[in-house]
Amino acid sequence: MTDQQTDIFILGAGMVGSAAALSFAREGFTVSLIEANELPQWSESEYNLRVCAISAASERLLKNLGVWQEILARRVSPYEHMHVWDGRVSLDFDAADSGQAYLGHIVENNLINTCLIMQCQSQSNIRLLMPSRLSAMTWVDNCVQIKLDSGDEIRSSLVIAADGGNSQLRCLSRIKSDHHDYQQTGIVARVRTGLSHQNTAWQHFLVGGPLALLPLSDGSCSIVWSADSMRAKELLLLDDAAFSEQLANAFEHRLGSIEVLSPRAGFPLVLANARRYVKDRIILLGDAAHRVHPLAGQGVNLGFGDVAELSSTLLESVGHGRDIADPLYLRRYARRRRAEVSLMLAGMDGIQRIFTSRRRLVQKSRRFAMKMIDHAPPIKRFLVDRALGN
Ligand SMILES: Cc1cc2nc3c(=O)[nH]c(=O)nc-3n(C[C@H](O)[C@H](O)[C@H](O)COP(=O)(O)OP(=O)(O)OC[C@H]3O[C@@H](n4cnc5c(N)ncnc54)[C@H](O)[C@@H]3O)c2cc1C
Repeated sequence: MTDQQTDIFILGAGMVGSAAALSFAREGFTVSLIEANELPQWSESEYNLRVCAISAASERLLKNLGVWQEILARRVSPYEHMHVWDGRVSLDFDAADSGQAYLGHIVENNLINTCLIMQCQSQSNIRLLMPSRLSAMTWVDNCVQIKLDSGDEIRSSLVIAADGGNSQLRCLSRIKSDHHDYQQTGIVARVRTGLSHQNTAWQHFLVGGPLALLPLSDGSCSIVWSADSMRAKELLLLDDAAFSEQLANAFEHRLGSIEVLSPRAGFPLVLANARRYVKDRIILLGDAAHRVHPLAGQGVNLGFGDVAELSSTLLESVGHGRDIADPLYLRRYARRRRAEVSLMLAGMDGIQRIFTSRRRLVQKSRRFAMKMIDHAPPIKRFLVDRALGN
């Protein structure tokens, strides 16, 4: 049992929490990083079911944190094109149109997490406790006192909630979150297609929700099929052959036959935005602060955006001789992030609603807009730049 003082306490060593720990530690702060689960295990012989489309902005952060080279050396899949269609009208995005070599990289979640945690372990000013849980938290003068289930006590100037969508810290801090359940499940699996994926991220907007096929480096694809929860339940219960057939039909056989190579998993899809990102000495990051529909693959990219912005805010505040939890600086951080996150959440929610609408007028307007965008290179460049985080 120990009693320690730290600059920053982080609950949750997922992709966002471990990136935050590394970023703060590299700025010279002492960090305690607490994770409820065991170390993530990335394996070369098996693909992780969960993958992310990593934007250029997130890639820059991971480079600055010294982990991108390690990720590249293990396994990533750059994609150069995106093909989106709704049955009648399609829209194409090309990296070359924006003068880029690629639109992003598909990377397994546990690979990003493993590389970040390995780097955290090599940092002398990060104390990593896993598996470990928070059992109590009290506010005292100029710091927060935390008790862990191991009996350890930690006093910290700043407390970061990076403990995901069902954040325990957000609840303990009594921060409310606006929440919308899409009544959809995102089914993920790895599949092999009859035809080459052409380094393209494919997305078919079905009335029940979008179906994405994301290219992987061995020629297979990772799917994210967002379907009404009832339909998803049925799809998850099908045997592999029947599921593959349903999938190929839903994908309109654009890449020929489809064969499922992995088990399937389903994740409930919600839109959520905490009413406050900062309260006293508590800051919410990543999914603890906001959750977005996966249709444009922006969730963890927003979380990494939080990390980059908070790191520069803390550096600025301490550089000006202020307290690490100076409310003026933290409020400025929260304002900046809210503007960026709200725009993304509203944009993704709008797209999701427009594409799942059964109203003919909405469908006609959508197809008209898609045609317009497809013939307007400057709008496409703008959209690509936004998605890349440029
Ligand atoms: C189907 C699907 C597809 C997606 N695709 C993309 C994509 O292409 N691109 C993209 O950017 N995003 C995508 N996302 C979103 C992305 O997965 C999340 O935004 C991201 O995982 C959030 O990371 P996080 O670290 O904030 O939270 P989490 O990944 O939830 O990590 C939280 C961590 O905290 C730990 N924890 C939780 N509670 C406690 C506790 N009480 N004490 C200690 N530790 C705790 C957990 O064990 C976990 O390690 C997708 C999401 C879904 C559902």
